[in-house]
Amino acid sequence: MSRRRISIFGATGSIGQNTIDLVRREPEAYSVVALTGGRNIGQLAADATELGAEIAVTCHEDELPALRAALAGSGVAAAAGQGALVEAASRPADWVMSAIVGAAGLAPGLAALEQGATLALANKESMVCAGPLMLAAAKRHGGRVLPVDSEHSAVFQALIGEDMAAVERVIITASGGAFRDWPLEKLAAATPEEAATHPNWAMGQRITIDSASMFNKALELIETREFFGLDPVQIETVVHPESLVHALVGFTDGALMAHVGPPDMRHAIGFALNHPARRALPVQRLDLAAIGQMTFRPADETRWPALRLAREVMEAGGLSGAVFNAAKEVALDAFIARRIGFLQMADVVAETLDRLSAERSLDDAVIDLDKVSRADQLAREAAHGIIAEVA
Ligand code: NAD
Ligand code: MG
Repeated sequence: MSRRRISIFGATGSIGQNTIDLVRREPEAYSVVALTGGRNIGQLAADATELGAEIAVTCHEDELPALRAALAGSGVAAAAGQGALVEAASRPADWVMSAIVGAAGLAPGLAALEQGATLALANKESMVCAGPLMLAAAKRHGGRVLPVDSEHSAVFQALIGEDMAAVERVIITASGGAFRDWPLEKLAAATPEEAATHPNWAMGQRITIDSASMFNKALELIETREFFGLDPVQIETVVHPESLVHALVGFTDGALMAHVGPPDMRHAIGFALNHPARRALPVQRLDLAAIGQMTFRPADETRWPALRLAREVMEAGGLSGAVFNAAKEVALDAFIARRIGFLQMADVVAETLDRLSAERSLDDAVIDLDKVSRADQLAREAAHGIIAEVA
C-alpha cells in the first residue's frame, strides 16, 4: 500500500503534538510533507527530522537561521514566513491537519483545500471567519473538510447515516472552564493565570482562556452553524462539567444521540485521520459505573456574554464572524497583557461588532478572502481603539 502524504500545520502546538503522537505509532503508513510551527524551533526540527518531513516551516521570518541550523544535515528543507506557510500547504498531500491557532490558520487551510487535500480542521477560526469559502473550496477541488473540534467531531459522528431533514437540534456541551463556579462579583478581577487552567482538557493557552470566558464555545456555536448548515435556533449549549458527553443531536422523533468519550483530543484527531474507517485508538475506555454520574446545567448568558454575542453573529451572518473573531483575538491579547480585565473582553467585542455594523464596505453577503481580510483588519483597528479608550 502506498504511504499517505500528510502535512501538519501548527505541529508544535497541543493539537499538532497529539497528531504527531498518532502518526509516530505507524510511521510506515505516512509520508510527511510539511510540519509547521512558531518559535519552538527545537521541537519543530526534532519532529521534522524524526518523521522525515520534506519541509519544516516557522511562521516567524527571523527564526529562519535558527531553523536552518537545527535542520543542518537532516535532509529536511527549511522555510519561514506566512508566504512559506501557504507554499507548503500547496504541496500535494492527501491529508492536512489545520491546527494553527487564530485567523492565521485560514490561508494555509484554504491552500490545502485548493490542492485537493482532505482538511482535518482543528482551526475553528477558519470556519467562523470564512465557512462558505472553506466548504466551496473543498467542493470545487474534490476535497473534504473533517471537523476535529471534539464537539463537531461528535456531531459529525452522530449524523453518519442520518438524513439532515430529520435533525431538529444540536446541543453543544461546555465544561464551563476555569470560572464556572466562581461568584460573578469575582470575575472582573480574574487574572490570565487563573483563566489559563482548565478543569478537564489540556490545551493551548489561548483556547484555555477562551474556555473560561466561553469565547471558545461562542466560536464553536458559529462553527456548528457553518459546518452543518443549521438555523441558529437549532443550536443549543448546555454546561456539562465532566466533559464526557461532547455533543448531542436531537431528531424529529424525539431521540437524542449523544457522543460520549474521554476528554482526549486524540479521539477526534484519530477519527479524522482514519475516516471513513474506524480504527483502534490509544484513548482511555470509560468505566461508566466508576464515573457514576454526569451532570448538566444551563449556560447562563449573564455569566458568559460571549454566548449572546455568538447568537447575534449567527443571525447577522456574512462577515460578522470574521469581525467577531478578530475583535476577540485582540481583546484576548489585551487581557493576557493585563491591559483590560476578564469581563472587558466581551465589552470590547460587543462594541467592535456595534461600530462595524454600520460599515457599508462590510455589508456583503458574498464573501471572498479579500473581504474576510478587510473585515479582520477593520475589526482589529476598531478593537485596538476601543481598548485604548477603556484601558
Ligand atoms: P497551541 O497554541 O498549542 O498551538 C498553536 C500552533 O500554531 C503552534 O504550532 C504555533 O507555533 C502555531 N502558530 C501560532 N501563531 C501562528 C501564526 N500567526 N502563524 C502560523 N502559526 C502559528 O494551540 P492549540 O491548542 O493546539 O490549538 C490549535 C487550534 O486548534 C486552535 O484553532 C484551537 O481553537 C483548536 N482546537 C484546539 C483544541 C485543543 O485541545 N488544544 C481542541 C479543539 C480545537
Ligand atoms: Mg471544542
